[in-house]
Amino acid sequence: MTNFILRRLIGSGFSAYLVGGCVRDTLLKRPVTDWDIATSANPEEVERLFDKTVKTGERFGTITVIHDGVPVEVTTYRRDGIYRDNRHPESVAFGASLDEDLQRRDLTINAMAMTESGEIIDPIGGLRDLEFGVIRAVGDPETRFAEDALRMFRAFRFKAQLGFTIERGTRQAILKHTHTAGAISPERIAAELTKTLMSDNPGVVWEVVDAGLLAGYVPKWRTKSDAPFPQTHVASEEPINGRPIATPTDVLSTLPQSHNLRWGVFCVLLGDATIAQKLRLPAKTQKIGFAAVQIAQAGFPQTRAGIKCLLAIHPPDAVKSAAAVGGTSQSVDEILQSGECYKIEHLAISGRDLLDAGIPEGPELGKALQKLLEHVIDHPEENEKAKLLRMLNG
Ligand code: ATP
Ligand code: MG
Repeated sequence: MTNFILRRLIGSGFSAYLVGGCVRDTLLKRPVTDWDIATSANPEEVERLFDKTVKTGERFGTITVIHDGVPVEVTTYRRDGIYRDNRHPESVAFGASLDEDLQRRDLTINAMAMTESGEIIDPIGGLRDLEFGVIRAVGDPETRFAEDALRMFRAFRFKAQLGFTIERGTRQAILKHTHTAGAISPERIAAELTKTLMSDNPGVVWEVVDAGLLAGYVPKWRTKSDAPFPQTHVASEEPINGRPIATPTDVLSTLPQSHNLRWGVFCVLLGDATIAQKLRLPAKTQKIGFAAVQIAQAGFPQTRAGIKCLLAIHPPDAVKSAAAVGGTSQSVDEILQSGECYKIEHLAISGRDLLDAGIPEGPELGKALQKLLEHVIDHPEENEKAKLLRMLNG
């Protein structure tokens, strides 16, 4: 579908190339999430050439062309003006060349173009960095991060997603510019951190923390030596009760790719869930984060019944997050899969049955159900209607 768009632009006398992430991911044989085209046509010309278009970022030269139901961002080659707010250029100038357009991009691996037939245009050396697994800023790293602080988060995010290393000069420039991270909206930080946490190397999130990019979002102890968890990413050798202490990096990388679970565990390891609120994560994720921290701080129960009591009142992912940090998530999964009752809704008896048995509506009914639940949590084999009725009457 991008070929149709490229051909129409080229057929109308413009130049046009696939650019950025879609080129990088095609070369890496990774699934492409979104398609970007750069062209010499200006936004009005792009709108005129295609039937279905949306003005998604006209100020920055972007028109989304929808072809066969797939949105493709078509952006006019541009040169960015000066940056004053550590995030956006004050102005952009069209009429630039492809080369100039590639120079304004963040990382070398994101600064390549590709023709319809797959020929790569690589004036900056992105192919070599892709081959060697290197994350490197385009041009002078200090200038690039001073321009736009989001690029620092992107550098770590690609490290996590691709398993690459951040080139020394690029890393040093990041460490010099972390104080500008306040220029980025919480939503953009949340998007980058979520991609980092959901990647194959979620432990990279600790590098983001340790670099100081999350100051204001994570507790201050992260920068102090009395941190409850070691700030290094090496497994700690000292076993507790014969089990080695899992480090933050280890715990995150053993988790399934579940958004709420990974955020929940991150909050537990931070010992604080306010980051979920400050980053305006979905309400459910916030709830899981806060509950998980609360459960972990109270001390995770050692008994099956204790875990079921938690499941009765908290979302399963909150209980699993707290358990994962203690290395006991298996026990929670086992309970969840066992079909054992841990909630009033799971009881083999309903409120209706209790009313029929003569218990009056109101607080007494609630208390009776709660009592039955507590009994069944300790004695799962007794979750049968007849047995529960007998217990009530007894
Ligand atoms: P993803 O796989 O998440 O889509 P991506 O690299 O494609 O990663 P996009 O946000 O889709 O990210 O951006 C497309 C391209 O635009 C990037 O590959 C890069 O060339 C350029 N770009 C994106 N964000 C920035 C930025 N903050 N500064 C400079 N260039 C950027
Ligand atoms: Mg993209």
